[in-house]
Amino acid sequence: MEDILYVYGDSLYVNLTNKCPCRCTFCIRSQKEGLGTAESLWLDHDPTAEEVIAAFGDYDLSAYQEVIFCGYGEPMCALDTLLAVCRYLRGVGGVKIRVNTNGLGDLIHGKPTAPLLEGLVDTVSVSLNTSDAEKYNAVCRPSFGPAAYDAMLQFAVDCKRYVPAVKFSIVDVIPPDEIEICKQTAARLGIPLRIRHFSD
Ligand code: SF4
Repeated sequence: MEDILYVYGDSLYVNLTNKCPCRCTFCIRSQKEGLGTAESLWLDHDPTAEEVIAAFGDYDLSAYQEVIFCGYGEPMCALDTLLAVCRYLRGVGGVKIRVNTNGLGDLIHGKPTAPLLEGLVDTVSVSLNTSDAEKYNAVCRPSFGPAAYDAMLQFAVDCKRYVPAVKFSIVDVIPPDEIEICKQTAARLGIPLRIRHFSD
């Protein structure tokens, strides 16, 4: 049985889809066969909003610091479901909502997507991953090609107008000089950068 919701730390995670326009070299999706217990995060279908909302019935939302949309796929691929579930959570109230995204929602849907998050999402965390478009294309291998990096940056900048907190994230496996460039990019765009340890 696949897990639509799962607990990690003090947050409740929502696993909306296994779809993603990227094929990141580090992505656990590419190691699907070796996932062990995490295999339960492989969905046999994308859940409907009704299925996700029903799953919340097993949890006391007040016990969690955040509800985080983040699974073994890109949550913005399931945009309509994400928005419907956020509306439900806003109706319940009392819990912060975060979306962890590759930032390619605009390319996925062919329109600006940041405005759709207004009033529904408290935090957007965008995976910056690399220090420039060429490296991004090589590491994340987006189906959109080299245009993806700039589109990701633009999405993050747009989010600042619609979402209270926006941040970039990178993982500390990239070389220090790349980390430094990522810091400069984040500072130039006025977006905090979170440097995650590989095992976080
Ligand atoms: S963007 Fe995320 S889900 Fe998609 S391939 Fe990369 S790491 Fe995996």
